[in-house]
Amino acid sequence: MPDDHSHCGHDCPDHPIDGALEILRAEGLRVTEPRKAMLTILAREHGPFSADELHKRMGKAGCDVVTIYRSLQAMEEVGVLRRCDFGDGVYRYEFNHGEHHHHHVICRVCRSVETLDVCVADSLERMARQKGYQKVTHTLEVFGVCPKCAE
Ligand SMILES: [Zn+2]
Ligand SMILES: [Zn+2]
Ligand SMILES: [Zn+2]
Repeated sequence: MPDDHSHCGHDCPDHPIDGALEILRAEGLRVTEPRKAMLTILAREHGPFSADELHKRMGKAGCDVVTIYRSLQAMEEVGVLRRCDFGDGVYRYEFNHGEHHHHHVICRVCRSVETLDVCVADSLERMARQKGYQKVTHTLEVFGVCPKCAE
């Protein structure tokens, strides 16, 4: 399979899936075929996708949606996925390994989502680790009224 990182706008130094799988193994999570399929879809497409949306996309590689939901939670806890809360009650997940980390601004009126390719949470995570917390992650989304809706 050719490396295609054109979607993320970065020159990813390593193969994103391999790095994420290494983290799963290091954290004692099983590397199953459905988990590989989920990571492959999420590394290739921005999403972010809910468990239901991933279930539809996985096709033959799929498993039941409860297993997908649990796997997404487990992979989010070890930081290879990021959970996005756009304020509509649906949890969506996106790939979060290496250079694939960013945040979003969501329009309160039309619900459009734009990527913010910056993160300011490093110091917060460092402080949490200094306090002895492990498996530290963060969620942060920005909300506003987009230029089109503001006209
Ligand atoms: Zn809008
Ligand atoms: Zn995103
Ligand atoms: Zn961040």
